Amino acid sequence: MNRIIEDILNGHGSEINAGIKRPYRLVETVYETPTVKKMRFKSDIGEKLTFKPGQFVEIGYSSDGSKIDVQRPYSIGSAPGSDTMEFYIGMVGGKLTSILEKAKAGDIYNISMPLGKNFEYVPGYNKKSLFLAAATGIAPFMSMLKYIEKNGIDEDIVLIYSVKTDKDVICARELKRFDLNGVAKVVVTLTRQEWEGEKGRINEDKIKRYAPDIKDRTVYLCGSSQFNVSMTELLTSMGVPADRGHIKHDVWG
Ligand SMILES: Cc1cc2nc3c(=O)[nH]c(=O)nc-3n(C[C@H](O)[C@H](O)[C@H](O)COP(=O)(O)OP(=O)(O)OC[C@H]3O[C@@H](n4cnc5c(N)ncnc54)[C@H](O)[C@@H]3O)c2cc1C
Repeated sequence: MNRIIEDILNGHGSEINAGIKRPYRLVETVYETPTVKKMRFKSDIGEKLTFKPGQFVEIGYSSDGSKIDVQRPYSIGSAPGSDTMEFYIGMVGGKLTSILEKAKAGDIYNISMPLGKNFEYVPGYNKKSLFLAAATGIAPFMSMLKYIEKNGIDEDIVLIYSVKTDKDVICARELKRFDLNGVAKVVVTLTRQEWEGEKGRINEDKIKRYAPDIKDRTVYLCGSSQFNVSMTELLTSMGVPADRGHIKHDVWG
């Protein structure tokens, strides 16, 4: 098994700590798609939100403020420097998402320090990148693309985003703007719906058409472990070296 796939399967650890230490107030909670909520939080103690695009935090819920009952990692979807922190969270009916589904503006959650240095987008690291995302795996790329747009960074970015249907596209309008304004070449592929755009899973043909210089690009992968494993297998079969310098991955359980 190659090193990248081993890392993907090992996943991220999640430690439950003491009570609410970094209180963040929910300021907006809206359905972005039929199954994904956009949730925006603001520090309740005026903390400056310092993180790098691509990082994630642990969002913790406490029923009484004295201990965290449940916490899960979520990629930050907003750009550094914004006064709120934004997330795109799939409502999968699990322990934390069933709480988040009912959450109201004004509710307080604990937000950890930013984590995940290995997935940070660093301008100038490689001026050519390929972002591959599936479903809510678009979240860290939203942070990166907003950051690139905000700072006028001129790099060659291709994003291929796979979702089931057009209703499942998260941030459709912003993605269209990034494409039109040259922030990135944005390609959406629908796996379960006919339309005039790309159809089917991300495969060799799509990568060759949109990123023919794939071996010169740093590839960032984000989605389920199944998605990350299959994309890593595909990329390595296309000659992309299986090391963290070439393939960076952020993986949901
Ligand atoms: C670094 C990192 C960043 C992440 N960022 C995001 C993000 O930006 N947006 C996001 O929506 N999620 C993200 N996740 C996943 C998130 O941490 C939770 O695993 C997810 O929200 C489910 O938590 P839960 O407590 O509701 O479910 P749990 O109680 O942990 O699980 C309950 C059931 O739901 C199933 N389940 C768990 N996750 C999913 C899923 N994604 N789709 C379908 N079924 C699932 C489990 O298999 C289980 O059967 C991220 C994970 C990691 C490791």
